[in-house]
Amino acid sequence: MKTVLVTGGAGYIGSHACKALAAAGYLPVTYDNLITGWQDAVQFGPFEQGSLLDRPRIDEVIGAHQPSAILHFAALSNVGKASVNPSCYYENNVVGSLTLLNAARAAGISKVVFSSTCAVFGDQDGIVLDETKPTSPLNAYGASKLAVEHMLRDFSGTGDLAYCSFRYFNVAGADPDGQIGEHHRPETHLIPLCLDAASGRRPALKLFGTDYATPDGTCIRDYIHVSDLVDAHILGLERLYAGGQSDVFCLGSGSGHSVREVISAVEAHTGLSLPVEEVSRRPGDATKLVSGSVKAQDVLGWAPSRSALDTMIGTAWAWHQRGNVYRG
Ligand code: UDP
Repeated sequence: MKTVLVTGGAGYIGSHACKALAAAGYLPVTYDNLITGWQDAVQFGPFEQGSLLDRPRIDEVIGAHQPSAILHFAALSNVGKASVNPSCYYENNVVGSLTLLNAARAAGISKVVFSSTCAVFGDQDGIVLDETKPTSPLNAYGASKLAVEHMLRDFSGTGDLAYCSFRYFNVAGADPDGQIGEHHRPETHLIPLCLDAASGRRPALKLFGTDYATPDGTCIRDYIHVSDLVDAHILGLERLYAGGQSDVFCLGSGSGHSVREVISAVEAHTGLSLPVEEVSRRPGDATKLVSGSVKAQDVLGWAPSRSALDTMIGTAWAWHQRGNVYRG
């Protein structure tokens, strides 16, 4: 059985990746500092607590488990906080990734799958977004992820490692089996906040901006089911094990939904009315981010199957109704 080190494996996407890895016959070893992750979400392999900035601890964990590849999810990812405290984002996301890659090189680990973001594109309304388009991040979060993409490109140039970078659009939904789901503290993402507002856990959804140049005035995003998203990681990893070359892929459904459309879909799915408070724009938000890429389908054979809006809301709603499942 191949062992894979999963940084951020206690987080939302990382834990779903661990489940998919285990199902595909790998042993996922989670490395997570538990600042935003949950040990309760680590259910599919060993857990090791530690920071990306702690090289001796990374060396120790690599020495103990001897992984042959790394899935690197651990990062700070709150766009609002990145605008207020960019230094923290560069330190954790860029310096942390550099520390990890140096440890990987020293240990002879030559395969890395990296969690990047469509935030590397910035606000390019009207352009079909794919891997060929120029990057121009609007905030330190997107810039820090792009810096790591470049770091991987340059490290691979020495022949020491091969990588897949995946640029995520808006990840949503929960494990269809209900074992794991999305639980952020604080929650900032649209669909769980809508579910909170519909179920009375919070008074209203604050709708950030109704004056965007879109048909209904609200931002448009491309939502992709977390289980579909992590499937691409397994395919990317297998490609690297088979000797495939390094590459960058966008991961989205290719369909855009406005904030108002998401609100209506949540009301339709839950049968509940969702109180909305319209407020001003959130700094750093792009007008429209929708993937126009089919590269992951063409090159990796990726076939997302759970990314209809109602399926994402339905799996998220099933998880939400279980209450605060993670306690630590
Ligand atoms: N959004 C909103 N109210 C919220 C959270 C998000 O109106 O409380 C909007 C946000 O402005 C964006 C979309 O919902 O247009 C998706 O935001 P989210 O934070 O889920 O993901 P992001 O696009 O920032 O990665």
